[in-house]
Amino acid sequence: EFCFIYSLQSVKCQSVLIKLSLIMDIVSAASKIIDQNSAKGVDDPFYILNIENVKHKYEIWKEKIPRVVPYYAVKCNDDERVLRLLRNLGAGFDCASKKEFNQMLDLGVDPERIIYAQTAKQVSHLKMAVDKGIQKMTFDCPEELQKIKKLHPNAKVVLRIRFDAKSSFVNLGPKFGCNPVTEAPNLIQLCKDMQMNLIGISFHVGTATTDYKVFGNALDAVRELFNFAETLDMKLNFVDIGGGFMGGNTELFDNIATTINSALDRNFPSEDIEIISEPGRYFVDTAFSIAAQIVLKKKSEDGQIYYFINESTYLSFCYYTDKDKLNYSVIKKSNLENHSEKKLSTIWGCTCSSLDKIYSDIEFPELDVDDWIIFHNMGAYSRTISSDFNGFSNRSSYILERNEKSSKKSFTVKIIHMKIDEKFI
Ligand code: PLP
Repeated sequence: EFCFIYSLQSVKCQSVLIKLSLIMDIVSAASKIIDQNSAKGVDDPFYILNIENVKHKYEIWKEKIPRVVPYYAVKCNDDERVLRLLRNLGAGFDCASKKEFNQMLDLGVDPERIIYAQTAKQVSHLKMAVDKGIQKMTFDCPEELQKIKKLHPNAKVVLRIRFDAKSSFVNLGPKFGCNPVTEAPNLIQLCKDMQMNLIGISFHVGTATTDYKVFGNALDAVRELFNFAETLDMKLNFVDIGGGFMGGNTELFDNIATTINSALDRNFPSEDIEIISEPGRYFVDTAFSIAAQIVLKKKSEDGQIYYFINESTYLSFCYYTDKDKLNYSVIKKSNLENHSEKKLSTIWGCTCSSLDKIYSDIEFPELDVDDWIIFHNMGAYSRTISSDFNGFSNRSSYILERNEKSSKKSFTVKIIHMKIDEKFI
């Protein structure tokens, strides 16, 4: 079987034919990429995107919660291949800034398929939404509603309520959303008084939650607000159930889907109500892996092994949710033999900050300088949050995808993102 590596650096394009194993195997691909790069003196970390995984996730979504149209949260990972694929599959997009609007509009996305899901809008960004015809937007307080009224009086506004899951990796509640009981009815009334076009209600239960029941309770609360609006002769027809879905837990997703479907049947049986969601992590988490190299190995005073790798909590690991369960593969390039025995280890990041500790006190197979670690499930809030701290900037991305023109079992690996090189040109 064969695999092509295309290197797209600015206008330059070269392709190299190399052998690859039978199946779409991330580790084999990474190993080949490492060899290719090393021949060119390149030893930087890189992402590998399994684009088929994103497609698969979309198919599961459509099968399990068919009434809910996903508006992918661009902030989670704005890899253009992911955005294009989701656009082609029929997704909408959750954007929060001018750059995100432009990214999606440049890809030909209809402004109707964009929700401006940021409850504290910067004026120039709101003005761009007006110019570009983006109408759906969230708010959670009178002040923001006044701002929208002034700059975008024809906006389709969506009231964001607070509805926190019992537990989540990041609880968004303290910052966003009004109280559904004490504040939301007043804000609905205010929309009526100000003649603003309130179309519906949104919530976000918190990112990466295991509390699937919260979706049912939140939808019950949304129904209450629809009922209240009806008493004011306002007809709402839009529900946005936010994000919060894990990427790789099928059983949990099944439970969430069952909960959502029955809550929709119970509260919103009419197909006239438009139901959307803003999933980020769900679509990309499991689709990306990152390969990083061990650049230094040393013994700590207390006898454990310290590894220093060329990744960082200021780069791909700043919002990392899998801290407790390492999901990784190893590519041996050093001469160290017998590396299967696990030893107490700490993995440090590449910056000069001592806070830059990726994993501490873990049982880890003994490796050596030059070996590579492939961390899996690295698609969510990694590329987009990465900083340039200490000059270690963003990573290249390679895509693993089926090569339609060639035999069924061959795959194509492409470099699509060359931020580091672009900077040096
Ligand atoms: N929508 C909004 C408004 C958010 O703030 C976020 C994440 O912070 C998301 C959607 C995506 O959430 P998740 O990645 O948990 O699905």
